[in-house]
Amino acid sequence: MSEKEGLVHMTATLGTNPELGAAHALKCRECGALYPLDASYACFECFGPLEVAYEARGLTREAIEAGPLSMWRYEALLPVIPGAGHRPGLQPGLTKLVKADNLAAALGAKTVWVKDDSGNPTHSFKDRVVAVALENARRLGFETIACASTGNLANAVAAAAARAGLKSVVFVPSNLEAGKIVTTAVYGGVLVAIGGNYDDVNRLCTEVAASRNWGFVNVNLRPYYAEGSKTVGYEIAEQLGWRLPDAVVSPVASGSLLTKVDKAFREFVDLGLVSDHDYKIYGAQATGCSPVSQAFAAGQDFIKPVKPDTIAKSLAIGNPADGPYALDVVRRTQGALADVTDEEVIEGIKLLSETEGIFGETAGGVVVGTYRKLLREGLIDPAAEVVLLNTGDGLKTLDAVAPTSGPTITVSPSYDDFEAAYKEITS
Ligand SMILES: *Cc1c(COP(=O)(O)O)cnc(C)c1O
Ligand SMILES: [Zn+2]
Repeated sequence: MSEKEGLVHMTATLGTNPELGAAHALKCRECGALYPLDASYACFECFGPLEVAYEARGLTREAIEAGPLSMWRYEALLPVIPGAGHRPGLQPGLTKLVKADNLAAALGAKTVWVKDDSGNPTHSFKDRVVAVALENARRLGFETIACASTGNLANAVAAAAARAGLKSVVFVPSNLEAGKIVTTAVYGGVLVAIGGNYDDVNRLCTEVAASRNWGFVNVNLRPYYAEGSKTVGYEIAEQLGWRLPDAVVSPVASGSLLTKVDKAFREFVDLGLVSDHDYKIYGAQATGCSPVSQAFAAGQDFIKPVKPDTIAKSLAIGNPADGPYALDVVRRTQGALADVTDEEVIEGIKLLSETEGIFGETAGGVVVGTYRKLLREGLIDPAAEVVLLNTGDGLKTLDAVAPTSGPTITVSPSYDDFEAAYKEITS
């Protein structure tokens, strides 16, 4: 369908959609066909993925600053029915942007910030995407919300559903970290553990979504869900004092977050909220699941799916839906993609903890480890002002560091024993 035919298709059916602020349609990312704002995610013409399209309109810094102290301060740029402040959800977002001077010094870099999304209600950035998906699940009349998850999304969906009084059905690979099973199950709802990896779980969910009238946040509600990630980019720009950084290092699972940080920056430039600035977007993966990084290294446009084998389970998507778009963003902004071994992931977690007092999950270790590698390989300028995304909390992935993080000394409750043992480790 041409863009014009798409428009006709849209106007014919759009009347059934309530007004979603600036969002006006779903648009195919490949052929540009337009569709109404309902629960669909693939183009009828070319099977390309759909994305929410907006009509740019006036929005001021003052209006945003006067908004709620959560991601809903950007509701005018999200596909939701206007009316923030009254949203009953968990109020994610507006997490800390921490100036990481000790980390910068340890790495020989100039200015490093950590966007610490472990501060969200269920301790990962997934609360943002779920919040937008849930608003649309309600709008479209779904009574059950569901998801295919690598762990953090499971937590976020189960918690948000509990808060909203909706039913939840969450599908996860059965080999997830215990910390992510417990922190999902505790919210009630149905938790389905699948004997397979994330890509198997995702395939099954696509089948279930086709037969059941459920709102799958990252399947049939994916276009809305994905927009929630833009708020990470908006917050970075606002928290830097309404300007863009030189570089961002983002973890890559499906690749959505990376592409949406870029989208957020471009929207802010287009709206005149920040001045234009040549930023570079970098992507970080674990070597045991690095299909996007491998495609980048090979100079390819397509992603060759892999079978994940890494401790960074939240990033273990072997067939990433947004991989090609993540590649496009990295190449357009002249950034890079790289990957690090599980050992380097653990070093990254520890480096961030020991220098900044921020205990990130394995995905955070992937980002810090990858930043260090990019510096060593000369792929990122040490003088560039960089924002590292810590997308989740280390308490959920204790297994990664538990074997190498124990008591320094163990002594009997005797002063002499303590003195002797302490001398030994400090001499
Ligand atoms: C889901 C997730 C990501 C990346 O998400 P994509 O948008 O799928 O690339 C990064 N970090 C953590 C901790 C996550 O849970
Ligand atoms: Zn299309």
